[in-house]
Order: sequence, then C-alpha cells, then structure tokens
Amino acid sequence: MRKKIVAGNWKMFNNLEESKELINGILEKLKNEKVNCDVIICPPYTSLSESAGLLKGSVVKLGAQNMHAEDKGAFTGEISSSMLKSAGCEYVILGHSERRTIFNESDDDINKKVKKAFSAGLKPIFCFGETLSERESGITNEVVKRQVTEGLKDIPESDLVNLVVAYEPVWAIGTGKTATPEQAEEVHSFVRSLIKELYSETAAENIVIQYGGSVKPENAADLLSRKNIDGALVGGACLKADSFIGIIKSA
Ligand code: PEP
Repeated sequence: MRKKIVAGNWKMFNNLEESKELINGILEKLKNEKVNCDVIICPPYTSLSESAGLLKGSVVKLGAQNMHAEDKGAFTGEISSSMLKSAGCEYVILGHSERRTIFNESDDDINKKVKKAFSAGLKPIFCFGETLSERESGITNEVVKRQVTEGLKDIPESDLVNLVVAYEPVWAIGTGKTATPEQAEEVHSFVRSLIKELYSETAAENIVIQYGGSVKPENAADLLSRKNIDGALVGGACLKADSFIGIIKSA
C-alpha cells in the first residue's frame, strides 16, 4: 500500500516574512486534522533554514525546488546538495517543466542532479510531462518514456525507495486546465509499467507517482482516488493555507 504524498511548490513566491506567515497558517490548521499522507513544502532558498526551524516536530517535511549537480565551485548563483541538506531539506524537486523550458535543463542535466541528490541523502521529486503540442501530436507516452528513462539512467533500484516521481503535463501547470482523472491515470499507469520494464514488478508497485497541474481542493479527491495516482504536486493552490489543507484532506 503506497502512502500518498502532497507537496507544495512555492516557486518564486514568498519572502521570509510571508513564508513564516504561510507556514504558521498551515501548521495551525493542520493541528485539527488527522493527516494520513506525507506533506512536503518547497519554499524558495532564502526561506529554507527558517522554515526548517518552524517545521521541526511537525508532520510537514521540507524540500527545495532545484539544486546544482556539482558539489561546489565557481557557479555563481547556484546552490549545492550539501547546502540544501544543511538547511534542513529532505526533498528536492528536480526536472520541473519551468526548469526544463525557461532554464534549458536537458534530460542529462536532470539525471546528473538526480544522482547527486541520492548521493547527498536527499529525496528527489523527479518531474516530467508533455507539452500541449506533444499531446496533440499523439506522442505523450513517447515523450514521457524518454524523460523517465533518461532522467533515471543508471539509478539503481535500491535508490527508488527514496524517489518520488511527478507527472506534470506542461499544458496543465499554472493554466487552470487540469488533466482529467482519466487522462492522468492513463499516463500514471503507463509510467508504472515503464518502471516495471526498467526495474522490476516490486519497484513498479512501490513507486510513488504524483500528479501535478492545477490541482485544487475541488478536483483533488477525484484525481487522488485513481489507482495509480499517489499524490499531488501543487503550485498555485499551495500558496494559501486553506486550499493546501483542502488538498491534504482529500489525500
Ligand atoms: C507546479 O508548479 O508544479 C504546478 C503543478 O503548478 P500549478 O498547481 O499552479 O499548476
């Protein structure tokens, strides 16, 4: 039985004060809830250390939104895995479509980061998904297969217990257009069979596959009730405590 995971990707929102306010709001509201899923928040780098302190002793875990694949060096503006670890992160989002498109990250770049995250003891939330034109051209599975196969290249099966994968159709991110539960389930089921092909039946059975793309309290329960949808990666709706809690309750 896979435990559901709800993760909030704050993107480039919330300065330190706003971050504290949102975290306190989430923790306050969670006090009255019986939480049956894993909950992760991924604030911007500048709020990570402070967030780690606020989250201590709570059910909410901390993640970052990206990292560099090298340990250290002349990479102005970048952040390493050990910096994230020492700031209190347990998770790191890698391969988000905004990183792939705006910052030109390739499958190979992302694969290097996934490997580095594992070696640093961070749990990657590895994202992939097709664009609208790829879906309309009927190549969704082909694109997803390439991204997953390349992104997880040379990752041993023993690392998969610490991996979360997130199917995020690019056309559904931040657009208000959610994939229907049927569309999402179809790709999730395909990804599970791909993991079986790449690894084993046990790996496929155990891997946690989140859906991301305009998830909100109104559509979360339907999405999360599908057999192969094990959680949600949430952007816009995680920036308000009420809507984030609404999604957690659905899980
Ligand atoms: C995301 O950024 O990963 C995301 C899914 O965003 P939104 O929920 O706003 O579509």
